[in-house]
Amino acid sequence: MFNYLYPDLYVSSVFEIPYAKLLSSNINTLLFDVDNTLLPHFVPRFEDGFISFLAEISAMGFKICILSNGSKKRVELLMENLPYKYVYRACKPLLFGINKAFSVLDTASGNCAVIGDQIFTDILVGKRKKVYTILVEPVSKKDEFIVKIKRGVENLIINEYKKSRSNIN
Ligand SMILES: [Mg+2]
Repeated sequence: MFNYLYPDLYVSSVFEIPYAKLLSSNINTLLFDVDNTLLPHFVPRFEDGFISFLAEISAMGFKICILSNGSKKRVELLMENLPYKYVYRACKPLLFGINKAFSVLDTASGNCAVIGDQIFTDILVGKRKKVYTILVEPVSKKDEFIVKIKRGVENLIINEYKKSRSNIN
């Protein structure tokens, strides 16, 4: 009876999302929740390593947008000097915020994925809008989040490195 609320994909963190696979399925727009998806509630800024991670995803060809139920103050401080669109006070699971994101991004729902840590806000708004939904485990339950950030970036680099080597050989 809860099938409607099942995400299309459930991964342990945003670093485990198969981004290349999404692109090959024509998903080129990522709407990220902030709190407990990208960083813990009490952390005001992204680590440099995480900013690099976002840049890597963006360079793959994704449009990135923050879709947060957080306050204007919280989201504006977080996104200051970053080149990505954002919607604060998105009121997920209401459609208000996601509709705003769609108009800001000039995109279509078939090309979009919603990524977040909560079924009843992030996944539900995605289901209601009929976009691809990705549930992640909440980051603040994890002891070594900073380590994971670094590994995530490292893995991207290592993968790119392997690809470049296989091109040469
Ligand atoms: Mg959240």
